Amino acid sequence: MSSILLPPPIQKINSEISANAGVKLSILRLDLMHPEINGNKWFKLKYNLSEAKEKNFSTILTFGGAYSNHIYATAAAGKIFGFRTIGVIRGEENIPLNPTLQFAVAQGMQLLYIDRRTYKQRHTDELKNQLKLQFGEVFIIPEGGCNLNGMRGCIEILETVKEFNTICLACGTGTTLAGMTLSLNQQQKVMGFPILKGGDFLKEDINNLLTNYLDSGLPAPVNCPAPWELICNYHFGGYAKVNNELRLFCQNFQQEYGIPLDYVYTGKMFYGVMDLIAKGFLKSDSLLLVHTGGLQGNLG
Ligand SMILES: *Cc1c(COP(=O)(O)O)cnc(C)c1O
Repeated sequence: MSSILLPPPIQKINSEISANAGVKLSILRLDLMHPEINGNKWFKLKYNLSEAKEKNFSTILTFGGAYSNHIYATAAAGKIFGFRTIGVIRGEENIPLNPTLQFAVAQGMQLLYIDRRTYKQRHTDELKNQLKLQFGEVFIIPEGGCNLNGMRGCIEILETVKEFNTICLACGTGTTLAGMTLSLNQQQKVMGFPILKGGDFLKEDINNLLTNYLDSGLPAPVNCPAPWELICNYHFGGYAKVNNELRLFCQNFQQEYGIPLDYVYTGKMFYGVMDLIAKGFLKSDSLLLVHTGGLQGNLG
């Protein structure tokens, strides 16, 4: 299944700020693995799709907001790997469809809009059973691909990456971070930048994910997660909130290094890392910034 994806390149960048601080910066370009199923979303889909295939499901049903990178990637992967896909979208339909949903529909994804109150029930058996009554035998992947299969895929993100002391990434649910900690050693560290306001709640979620994963018997290269921490003050007001400072930062970054960043996830993390280095708070000598993709969202 992975054979259509390229291995992610690691790109060094020379920034004056980091050179002055004695910090070496590299970027893991998960955004370049595939034009459509790129970033961490591929890793979170991978074992979900293989379980669906093993169990002979022909239809995948999943959940997301109208700009969701996960909806986009699932629609693309469904088309490529021969699954019918259904996207349950939070909120009402807006015509014309935004570029994310236009793309999903073009891949053959069927969309179902549900109101925000019902959407909150997306993890309940009641709603899932109702959807199964409506659509028949569907393999359900949770929003964002955030389950133990998703975490299992994320363990592989850093499997070939050994030489860095600190790994930085943007966090939504923390599933990607949790997976990564299981492929590192105790001398390495993961720094997660929650893009939601009040991201401290993620600590408990990540600990729960780790406990559940290690209890599940699924394969893990190490049974003691590498140390990790959350940096919660670079959310810019919350999910998908953007200001001019962030926009300008992303534009300058692209101009200087030729690397595009998305405003929802990677832009905030890169901003945070550069800010911490400039202020002298990040002294680790070799940093790996994970570009988790999400660039399709910049069209919306
Ligand atoms: C979904 C997403 C994340 C967050 O992943 P989690 O596993 O939910 O923490 C980060 N970056 C991008 C680009 C994403 O699309």
